[in-house]
Amino acid sequence: MNKICACGSKQNYINCCGAIISGKRNATTCLELMKSRYTAYTKADINYLLLSHHSKTRPPQKEGKSIKLWAESVRWMQLVIVNSWNGLAHDNEGYVEFKALYFEAGQIGQIYEKSLFQRENGKWVYVSGKHY
Ligand SMILES: [Zn+2]
Repeated sequence: MNKICACGSKQNYINCCGAIISGKRNATTCLELMKSRYTAYTKADINYLLLSHHSKTRPPQKEGKSIKLWAESVRWMQLVIVNSWNGLAHDNEGYVEFKALYFEAGQIGQIYEKSLFQRENGKWVYVSGKHY
């Protein structure tokens, strides 16, 4: 499989977000985790989306189902990283500001969010986001 990763890295999926989504390796930075979550959205991989969510803010399974249906119903176009703060290999917390563009019902939509990431049990996880 030589599929280019959806996150915009121009790398093969299996060497990029695929390695993180499959659990082959952990995200080193919160930016890597953020990109893997975007890529998981493009695949409507709700299991990974819940797994990479902090346990204290993780949505319940039934809410996951509607997220999955929605993620499948739109056409994911592009991830634009606007900015990121901390969240590096030696940090325990970080932020990523991004735009996720998608096509829904003939129109371009976007999620414009500043997300908070923390480490839980040593792994980067998504905590919460502020929408613009
Ligand atoms: Zn990727």
